[in-house]
Amino acid sequence: MQDICLSEFQICLLLRESLAALPMEACGIIAGQTGCATRIFTAVNVAQTLHRFSIAPDELSHILCQIDRAGDQWLGIWHSHPQSPAVPSAADIRCARHPTKIWLIVSLATGGRVSIGKGIRYEDCVIRGYRIDGERCRFHEVPVRKV
Ligand SMILES: [Zn+2]
Repeated sequence: MQDICLSEFQICLLLRESLAALPMEACGIIAGQTGCATRIFTAVNVAQTLHRFSIAPDELSHILCQIDRAGDQWLGIWHSHPQSPAVPSAADIRCARHPTKIWLIVSLATGGRVSIGKGIRYEDCVIRGYRIDGERCRFHEVPVRKV
C-alpha cells in the first residue's frame, strides 16, 4: 500500500472538520481498504495546547472497534495544521507512533482562500500524506489521490 485515495466528499469533510476546530487542530482516524478511505472519523483533540493534537485512548479504542466491526482496516491518522504547511512538525515526528499508518495533514495555511459560503471548495486546503517513523525521526511522503 503505497498511496491513499480519498473521495471529494471525504476531502470536504476533512476541510469542514478542520475549520470547525479552529483555532485548535482537528484530528481523527481514517478507515479503509487497500489504500482507499472508506470512512473518516473525527476525534476530540484533548491536547491542551495549540499546534498539537492528542486522541484519548478510550476514544481511539472505540473508533478502532467500529472499524473492526465494519470489516475495514485502520489506514491512518489525520490532523490539521491551522497555520502551518502540510508537513509533519517536530512534535508530530517526535510523538509519532504507528509507523505503518498513513498520516494525513490538512493545512489551512492557504493564504486566506478559505470560504464556506455556498459549499466548501476542497482547493481551499492542502492535504498531504506521510509515513512517520518517530523512533528514527524520519518521514516520507505518500501520494494522496482523489477518486
Ligand atoms: Zn502536526
